[in-house]
Amino acid sequence: MNQLPPPDPLAPVIAADRAHVWHHLVEHKFTETHGPDLMVRGRGLRLWNAEGREHLDAVSGGVWTVNVGYGRRSIADAVRDQLAELNFYANTAGSIPGARFAAQLIARMPGMARVYYGNSGTEVNEKAFKMVRQIAHRHHGGRKHKILFRQRDYHGSSLAAVSASGQPERAAQYGPFVPGFVEVPHCCEYRAQWEGAEYGLRAADAIEAVILREGPDTVGALCLETMTAGGGVIPAPEGYWPRVQEICAKYDILLHLDEVVCGGGRTGKWFGYQHYGIKPDFVTMAKGVASGYAAIACLATSRRVYEMFDGAPGDPLSAFRDISTYAGCTAGPAAALENLRIIEEEDLLANACRMGDRLEAGLRDLAERHRAIGDVRGKGLFWGAELVSCRRSKAPVPEAQVQAVIADCLAQGVIIGSTSRALPGMNNTLCLAPALVATPADIDAITAALGAALGRVFG
Ligand code: PMP
Repeated sequence: MNQLPPPDPLAPVIAADRAHVWHHLVEHKFTETHGPDLMVRGRGLRLWNAEGREHLDAVSGGVWTVNVGYGRRSIADAVRDQLAELNFYANTAGSIPGARFAAQLIARMPGMARVYYGNSGTEVNEKAFKMVRQIAHRHHGGRKHKILFRQRDYHGSSLAAVSASGQPERAAQYGPFVPGFVEVPHCCEYRAQWEGAEYGLRAADAIEAVILREGPDTVGALCLETMTAGGGVIPAPEGYWPRVQEICAKYDILLHLDEVVCGGGRTGKWFGYQHYGIKPDFVTMAKGVASGYAAIACLATSRRVYEMFDGAPGDPLSAFRDISTYAGCTAGPAAALENLRIIEEEDLLANACRMGDRLEAGLRDLAERHRAIGDVRGKGLFWGAELVSCRRSKAPVPEAQVQAVIADCLAQGVIIGSTSRALPGMNNTLCLAPALVATPADIDAITAALGAALGRVFG
């Protein structure tokens, strides 16, 4: 008698997913009948899916998050121990790991004074926007309420964060946008908007032009990604940051740097802005704070900002009356403390610099051999390769070719990504952001797979 094969234990999981989960970003109708390709185990940069197939993850969990790599038992233990001791109390009172992590973080951010906890990048950006609005009401009669943001930058998924993101086509989905957010030009030298030398200065001066058009007494803050991530992997050109800082000082505008991607060592320093000697008023961070081991995000503020909320008793505008329930969950700071300890003990910032240099060299070498690569840009362990169908016109390759390269790498067992699909005509940049624990062999395997994929897709 023929024996029946054992039942697939994952079959009910797949069925439940197809029937009930609404996945992020993807065309959801497709997922009713396809996938999911469930990842079930991770160690370092390696992931295994439900069929036991091994992958090399070059995008740290898809969205550049798992900075210290998968399978960190010491973080899991720290979270478990803390939850068993005390899982939650509202952050009105605080917690032992919350106080400890704030002190550790501020010690690594000279010039910053306070940490305000949240759960996601979106949320801490919103909190900074709300602080800017409250400062405007308390100190400027409500006038200095506008927040400038940059084309191509992304600050999150809530309505205000979408309104503050340089992706205007989203208006067709979610408009009308929240008022008071004003766009300034991007600073991508490869896609230069102005002729001539000193592009960094020109791009920064374009921000000043917007401030003058809007009226400096109406502009409260400038919110920028230190390096544009999902919008094209765009580090600022030489000269940009000192000029931006000068402009903010000149017009008394608060500088909010979104380090949701760059924070936590991704660029080879604790924070991306620390490469440039900038003095921000707000720094927001999320992904690398706990490498995806718990939900935690932080808004760090300067003393100047903190003291604008002087806490005068009875004045409703003098304290920041805002709360997020889950910012009282102790799993976040417990994971963040251990994540920070690992980064320092294993010297991962230095490794990110070394491996970043190797990745850059590998990509530049590929660009010599594949004309489809129009530009290579990035910092530390976050790199982009922009794909064009003609180097002279810089016409972006069609989306299908970008996806074909990604699919080919996946077939070779290497997971790479691309810039935001929400940006038609701009989603042609491949993204590579492996965990900070990457080895030379990992980096070489990533560039080898990419080279093979480019060869097959573009010939
Ligand atoms: N800012 C930047 C620069 C981001 O890349 C992201 C997310 N990719 C966010 C903010 C939003 O973070 P979250 O998804 O945690 O809300």
